[in-house]
Amino acid sequence: ATPTSIMVGTGRAAELGVLFRKGEALQALRGVKVIAFDKTGTLTEGKPELTDLQVNEGFDKDEVLAQIASVEQRSEHPIAEALLAAARERDLNLPEVSEFDTVTGMGVKAKIDGVRVEVGADRYLKSLDMDLSVFADTAHKLADEGKTPLYAAIDGKPAAILAVADRIKEGTADAITALHEQGLKVAMITGDNKGTAEAIATQLGIDAVEAEVMPDGKVEALEHLRQQHGTVAFVGDGINDAPALAAADVGLAIGTGTDIAIEAADVVLMRGDLRAVPQALAISHATLRNIR
Ligand code: ADP
Ligand code: MG
Repeated sequence: ATPTSIMVGTGRAAELGVLFRKGEALQALRGVKVIAFDKTGTLTEGKPELTDLQVNEGFDKDEVLAQIASVEQRSEHPIAEALLAAARERDLNLPEVSEFDTVTGMGVKAKIDGVRVEVGADRYLKSLDMDLSVFADTAHKLADEGKTPLYAAIDGKPAAILAVADRIKEGTADAITALHEQGLKVAMITGDNKGTAEAIATQLGIDAVEAEVMPDGKVEALEHLRQQHGTVAFVGDGINDAPALAAADVGLAIGTGTDIAIEAADVVLMRGDLRAVPQALAISHATLRNIR
C-alpha cells in the first residue's frame, strides 16, 4: 500500500471513531480470519446487576446479602458493584470485614466476626471442597438464561446461589452479523461460566467459545483459535485483556476501557460500539484494493 492510500484509509476510519495506532494494522486487518471478543465490557455493557438470590436452609437472605456485599466492598470487579448496589437498595447494614483477599479469576474472601466468607464462581467453592449439589438445578437454569451463577459460603457451608446479568450492548448483534457476511469466524473468550457463555454465544450466533479462561489464559485461548482458523484479531477492554491484545495479529481496544488495554492495542474503538469493527474491516479491504 502507498503511504497516501494508508493515510486516506486511516482518515476514513478515524471519522467512524476507529483510531489506527500504526498504519500496518490497517493492512494486517485485511488478512484476519477469526475475530475473538472478550465478553464482559466488550460484547456486553460491563455493568452487571443482581437478578437472583436463593439461600440454603438455615440462612437468611438479607443477612447473607449483607455479608456478601461487605466482602465485595473491597473488590474492584464489576460483579462487586452489582452486589453492593443490591445491598444498598435494600438498605442493609454492612458488617465489618477483615483478612480480605482476591482469588484471581475465582472470587473473593474475608472474615466477618472471625467467620470465613467466600464469594465466587462454582470452581472457586469446589476448589475448597464444598458440595454445591443443592444448587445444581438452579445453577443450570440461571446459566441457560445467560446469567452468571455465583455462590457464597459462610463458615465453610454453601449459603447462597446468586446470579448477575449484564446487558448485551446495542450494536453487538449487528456487528456479528456483518462480520459473518465478511466471511469471518467470530469467537468469545471469557472468564465467565461455560453454560452462561454458551447461552450468550448461541443468542448472538457466535461460532466458538473459550469459557472459564483464567486471566493469564487468554493468550493461550487466542493461540488455539489461530491454530484452528488462521490470522486472529482480538477485541477487549480490560487490564486482563492487555496480553491478548498484544499477542493477537491485530488487537482492538475499546476506548472507554482501561488505559493498559489501549496501550497494548493496535486499534482503538473510540465509541465502544462494535459495529465499528466490520466498518474498519471494510475500510481495510477498500484501501488495499485501491492500490492493486
Ligand atoms: P471476567 O472478566 O470474564 O469476569 P474474571 O477472571 O475477572 O473474568 O472472573 C472470572 C469469574 O470469577 C467471574 O465470572 C466470577 O464468577 C468470579 N469472580 C471474580 N471476581 C469476583 C468477585 N469480586 N465476586 C464474585 N465473583 C467473582
Ligand atoms: Mg472485559
